[in-house]
Amino acid sequence: MNSKIIVFAAFLGSFFISSCGNKQEKTGTSADSTKSSAIKKPAPGSSLTLDPNKKYIFLTWDDSPQPPGTTICYNVFKEEGVKATFFSVGMHYDIEPRRRRIIDTIRNGYPQFLLANHSYSHGFRDNYNTFYKLTDSAIADFQKAEKLMDIPVKIIRLPGRNSWANNGVVSGPKTSEKVARKLDSLGYKVIGWDIEWGFIRGNIPKESPTQIMKLINSKFESEYTQEPNAMVILAHDRMFAKQPYTDSLRKLISLIKADSRFVFETIDHYPGIGKR
Ligand SMILES: [Zn+2]
Repeated sequence: MNSKIIVFAAFLGSFFISSCGNKQEKTGTSADSTKSSAIKKPAPGSSLTLDPNKKYIFLTWDDSPQPPGTTICYNVFKEEGVKATFFSVGMHYDIEPRRRRIIDTIRNGYPQFLLANHSYSHGFRDNYNTFYKLTDSAIADFQKAEKLMDIPVKIIRLPGRNSWANNGVVSGPKTSEKVARKLDSLGYKVIGWDIEWGFIRGNIPKESPTQIMKLINSKFESEYTQEPNAMVILAHDRMFAKQPYTDSLRKLISLIKADSRFVFETIDHYPGIGKR
């Protein structure tokens, strides 16, 4: 399936996680499995050479852990064999052991799953204006989440703001620019999104899978993405908790899979993220 060249390099100041408890990804033949067992498991943040003939899809799901949505999405991705990133929230993790175990499972699921940072307080409990004005407190909030959840990469999604920051290049709303810039200066990457699969009434997907697929195709065709050949899709775990919407998620995955140009990747492999 994957014939990618993986170069080991400890970018993003990440640290290696123990392979204890990690299951090997399933492999096709016994010859394959002999070969794969000899290959060292990559660490989050390891650089990956992207194929210029492919188009990369980064599924980035926010606000975990939010059971049952998070577990349902995790299981769908697992069954479908697609890679995804969960941007998690410290105060959601801090509630009970069951939620902490969900995050442990995601963290241990690399390279299929990546755990990344979506702040401790979700921007002081959705008070974004205050949050982005208090730069130092906002930075401390992200660092609290990083430590608490043992997040293996310095990759952040800002709550409520489509901001980007990577190696001194910062873009997005003016209101969150200071925080994005400060995070960048501390070696963090801030990842926004190209497409949001929106929701209504808190957790019901707004668009159909076909509409999202159309949007993906049209954005690629018009080359209207943050980086060429890369599409960051934002959605929220809680949107897919109910059966009809779990089916919508599966449907979108099947539509993406039907086009052989598309490859799913975790956000640590987003173009330019590992480069200095
Ligand atoms: Zn959020």
